[in-house]
Amino acid sequence: MRASIFSVLTGVLEDYHIRRFIMNPYFPLTFWVLNILELEGRGIFDHRSPLWIRGFLYHHLKVRLSCFAAIYRRLHPVLISSITKNFSINEIGNGYCDHCGQCCFFFGGLGEFPEPWPFPNRWKRFFTDGLGRHHLFCAFLWEWRHSGKSICSIYKWRPLVCDLFGEDECRYYLEAPHLPYVHLDRASRYVQKVLGIS
Ligand code: SF4
Repeated sequence: MRASIFSVLTGVLEDYHIRRFIMNPYFPLTFWVLNILELEGRGIFDHRSPLWIRGFLYHHLKVRLSCFAAIYRRLHPVLISSITKNFSINEIGNGYCDHCGQCCFFFGGLGEFPEPWPFPNRWKRFFTDGLGRHHLFCAFLWEWRHSGKSICSIYKWRPLVCDLFGEDECRYYLEAPHLPYVHLDRASRYVQKVLGIS
């Protein structure tokens, strides 16, 4: 029988070079773990050796980390504080948004952005093309301090399709959650434990 995915995952997350990134208060670790649990549910790791799984997890995480690092470097520090200064996980945005991040679960989207767009044009492809096969969440999705709550790193410049996403669409997802979200409690507990904050 294959070992629990968490045992391989923990080995990856304890790597010093990885750990210093995932400890960043905005790195979307819970969403990344949700992504991996969903892949596990789809059988991606069935009949694979721990070595293969470890290599897969490293590669998958490194793609996410390098995208996160590029965005973080560009936004740090002024734009990050403008995005985060009024953020509260207890505040329900527009009367319905509780920052669950479900609207940021997708594989690629329409690449219409507001102008002026202050970032490199190649960033638009992070959104339109996604981060590649097996990446289930938007490249711009960050997480608020390992809470499992989402924060959009380009909120003020988010694509028009995100801006148009409203209460009806949100309620639809809340009533029929996207598949990865069935793993949310498990993912959150694991993240708290692996980061030593529980
Ligand atoms: S651009 Fe922002 S709001 Fe739109 S899907 Fe990505 S993280 Fe979510």
